[in-house]
Amino acid sequence: TIYRPKDASLSPLSSKTILFAGYGNQARSQALNLRDTLASNPDISAPKILIANRVDSYHETAIADGFSVTGFAEGAKGADVVFLLVPDQVAPTLYNSEIGPNLKTGALVVVASGFNIFYKRLEVEGVDVGMIAPRMIGAGVRSRFLEGEGFPCFVSVENNSSGRALEMVLSLALGVGGLSAGAVECSARDETLMDLFAEQAIWPSIIVAFREAYSTLKKLGCSDEALVHEMWLSKEPAEVFEKCAEDGFISQLKYHSIVSQYGQLSTSLGMDVTALQEFFKKVAEKRILGGEFTKEFTDIDNKGGGNGMEKKLEELYAAASTSELAIGEKRVRERMGLD
Ligand code: NDP
Repeated sequence: TIYRPKDASLSPLSSKTILFAGYGNQARSQALNLRDTLASNPDISAPKILIANRVDSYHETAIADGFSVTGFAEGAKGADVVFLLVPDQVAPTLYNSEIGPNLKTGALVVVASGFNIFYKRLEVEGVDVGMIAPRMIGAGVRSRFLEGEGFPCFVSVENNSSGRALEMVLSLALGVGGLSAGAVECSARDETLMDLFAEQAIWPSIIVAFREAYSTLKKLGCSDEALVHEMWLSKEPAEVFEKCAEDGFISQLKYHSIVSQYGQLSTSLGMDVTALQEFFKKVAEKRILGGEFTKEFTDIDNKGGGNGMEKKLEELYAAASTSELAIGEKRVRERMGLD
């Protein structure tokens, strides 16, 4: 199902209290979009929009934007809707200790990512749960709204204690501008699977393909300068993906030469993909759906009094910087004055 503005109305939001927990990338854009949508629809009795944030710079920004700012527990007490828009690794502790216990029965919790719902990290019994998950960074959510274009978005209902959750989720999605480009119905499970699969299977395969291609061609005499320009500095890969979105994943091949079209089609159709298929299946079924990845991530993150991931990422960046690609690129960028 693809939901469009005609499938929703703002009236279910009449006189409700809507709390945005957090005022970062997504929260600020969505709160501003909602306020603008309501301002241009004065026929409904405007809901109250509140922001909950720690007292710091985001708190200041929310006040400068003209919102009332409150604490998480206090804000949750009177809220009919809570947009839970803090980082996914922070949300369980914050929600389970301060927000959830203070919500009234039948309130609606809206997440922007399926992760904590699919892995049951939020204690959400007795409340409605919906997902409005923009497929775009917060800055894009705001700029596309202002340009009247809308942004790609997934929506779902995950808990429907009240029986009215879908109507409310669509109403809120309409308000934040998530229906203008057509919102795709997609469950928290599928959103989590696709998101983590892209991060742990598709992009790593691309990173490895580039890294190994670099070493293979370097051994055959190609220079760092030529390789870096040929492979990505020219922005050709970015343009190809742009054409995939505009013209279609396969149809965009027609922009390439006949030599290139034949090379790409015949090789991709003829490749032995058994190892890749096994790797993909393992990532999807064991690491993501089987929960191996979240356990590993949480265990690492909990080490060293909660900053284990920071340390682990430092180690991983250090390891990634030793490849021929990384060393070659560093040299080229320095010589070209790009860094
Ligand atoms: P941000 O990192 O921008 O969120 C920052 C907000 O969270 C700030 O208000 C910050 O307040 C608050 N926060 C951070 N740590 C804590 C804490 N320990 N206790 C209380 N508040 C805290 O988040 P995003 O907007 O990036 O992500 C929000 C949700 O949107 C996530 O579920 C994410 O997966 C989803 N999403 C994000 C996208 C993106 O492009 N970023 C795209 C689509 C979905 P403070 O100033 O006090 O630190």
